[in-house]
Amino acid sequence: MPSDLIPIEKALDFLLAEVKENTDVVELPLSEANGCILAGDKQALINVPEFDNSAMDGYAVNTADLPEPGCLLPVSQTIAAGHPGDSLIKGTAARIFTGAPIPEGCNAVVIQENTQTVGDSVAIMQLPDVGENIRGKGCDVEKGGVVLSQGHRLRPQDLGLLASLGVASVSVKKPITVAILNTGDEVIAPGTPLSEGQIYDSNSFTLEALLKSLGMNVIKLGIVNDTFEETENSLREASTKADCIITTGGVSVGDEDHIRYVVEKMGQLALWKLAIKPGKPFSYGKINGKPLFGLPGNPVAVFVTFVLLVRPYLLKMQGASDLFAAAMALPAGFDIQSPGSRQEYIRVRLNKSVEGSTVLEAFGNQGSSIMTSLSWADGLAEIPRGETVKKGQLLKFFPFRGIL
Ligand code: AMP
Ligand code: MG
Repeated sequence: MPSDLIPIEKALDFLLAEVKENTDVVELPLSEANGCILAGDKQALINVPEFDNSAMDGYAVNTADLPEPGCLLPVSQTIAAGHPGDSLIKGTAARIFTGAPIPEGCNAVVIQENTQTVGDSVAIMQLPDVGENIRGKGCDVEKGGVVLSQGHRLRPQDLGLLASLGVASVSVKKPITVAILNTGDEVIAPGTPLSEGQIYDSNSFTLEALLKSLGMNVIKLGIVNDTFEETENSLREASTKADCIITTGGVSVGDEDHIRYVVEKMGQLALWKLAIKPGKPFSYGKINGKPLFGLPGNPVAVFVTFVLLVRPYLLKMQGASDLFAAAMALPAGFDIQSPGSRQEYIRVRLNKSVEGSTVLEAFGNQGSSIMTSLSWADGLAEIPRGETVKKGQLLKFFPFRGIL
């Protein structure tokens, strides 16, 4: 392996040791807290539910009143959700609906499918066990328990859980602000016609959406021409406005690649060139004390390096406890030779083998500019450095659903 290529694990260790964690806290209404990081443990101040209630539509009974299947009980009251009933009169049944409070004296609910109405009475055709179809007080959450821990990244279902506890707003780590800057004389914003030799900027849109899905604020500083001066000015502006800067393009070894030199002039370059494919020219440094990720220009390289390196860094910076993309082991449905000196991340889709098990299928063109490969795929598969992968070999698979 050429000595200047840094293995990804080493780069990640270095990056995570560099992170200055965000300690600012803000109180946000639940409806604005999706993706935010919980600033402290969240304790339940109530039980959920606060009262025993029926899990089904049926009849609330006391099992002591049921000698055998088919026994007949008079129906003494009807209890709907939100309308507590009276104590059960011994030897009777209460008509009850889902979510309604279980009256004193009942210890089971018989689902209506297991009953027959006979005038004002009900025949219990199948005897219930004690507690059957009753959702006990605190069966979901017990008062005083910790439901979500500090550092947890709030997902839609967590917001629902907090709402069920009566919580209307939540203390979260203040979302960090990330500036995106895209270099390239050939790059223009979509929405205007292309001149000869130009391409549309796609990187800033992918990055913006990735960052927003992590609950972070985004400043798009636009497209920067390939000159040292313009790059320097834009990076200076970025370093005053954001907590972290992400650039794309201009980080390779060409005469028009200025990012590296500007970072060296304005601050420190700490990492450059990784043993990863795609994404080799990845760089990391600091300007004005702000971390800067110089990502490659090719869109697939941007996506891959963001997911594997930038995402965990930013999540740690944001105060999250779970930093890494979810991964699972799945068999390759193909043979492939690793590029030797670099760990490769290929775009794959979940497919069924002839025996019916799940296998990974690789996209035909794995070029780092091929954006259709990312839209086609379900995730990335890791091809370990120097390995020849044979069909059936287990590979580490990172589902896209686990990273957003
Ligand atoms: P560079 O690293 O600047 O040499 O760019 C590598 C490749 O990525 C070139 O083919 C660029 O045209 C392309 N590229 C650079 N920036 C972007 C962008 N924002 N969106 C899409 N492609 C880009
Ligand atoms: Mg360029």
